[in-house]
Amino acid sequence: MLVAKTISHMRRALDNTKCPLGLVPTMGALHEGHLALVRKARSENATLAVTIFVNSTQFASHEDFATYPRNLERDLTILEAEGADVVFVPSNEEMYPPGFGTFVDVGRIGQILEGQFRAGHFLGVATVVLKLLNICRPDRAYFGQKDSQQCMVLRSMVEDLNLEVELMTVPTVRESDGLALSSRNACLGVEERRAARVVSQALFAAKAMWESGVKNADLLKRQTRDILARESLVAQIDYVSIADARTIEELEVVEGKAILSTAVKIGSTRLIDNVILEPQELL
Ligand code: AMP
Repeated sequence: MLVAKTISHMRRALDNTKCPLGLVPTMGALHEGHLALVRKARSENATLAVTIFVNSTQFASHEDFATYPRNLERDLTILEAEGADVVFVPSNEEMYPPGFGTFVDVGRIGQILEGQFRAGHFLGVATVVLKLLNICRPDRAYFGQKDSQQCMVLRSMVEDLNLEVELMTVPTVRESDGLALSSRNACLGVEERRAARVVSQALFAAKAMWESGVKNADLLKRQTRDILARESLVAQIDYVSIADARTIEELEVVEGKAILSTAVKIGSTRLIDNVILEPQELL
């Protein structure tokens, strides 16, 4: 496995590798959620590239960039065992040298929900992903359903800018109690970790209600909020949303495919999660 720290080294490393090339962008502190992407990309491509870069531009000034979990040595050992061919671990200066000033703005889709609570977040995400796509030129790039709005923002960017890459979405990997795996889970104290399971419990309870025939989005969102609010360690609910799966505009009635999502603070740790509400096709 080759580890490249500079853009020129990464480009050289990928010259003359076998096609197709699969790319898995990450911010490191790898867990089984990341590994689901890595394994899918490994099984579908002749060459597998993974990037580890804690992207400063997607963190707002008050957010946890400085304290975001980092463990490069461990990550590289894991990726070697998973059969990655090339890993890109650039420095902040390599990605954002002095004078850097171009950002990708995907418009409204990046300003609602997460974008409303994390100003500039998707500018940073779209910009870094476009840079990584340009540096690596993969045939396929893999992202997790866990960050559903990120998937939609990137899909929009790829379509709008006519990028020649296939975006692949991988289902959310969860702990046995339902908590979606996240690098930020490591920031939870013991009691907070116990409380955090309420996030997926609330989403799945509302999904069950939807499956039983309730299609009114307000009722489903109220059910989600009520369950979240019963947990005393939930310090803040940023939003509970039921949005169209393609446009992410809020829905009043859930008829087509929709995403029920939430962002919640447990203590000072902000967690996001979502479930898909997708009507079953009749045979
Ligand atoms: P991150 O390192 O948090 O930026 O995540 C890198 C990629 O892994 C993103 O595409 C995430 O959506 C994906 N990912 C993170 N957690 C999970 C999870 N629990 N299940 C599936 N994919 C995940």
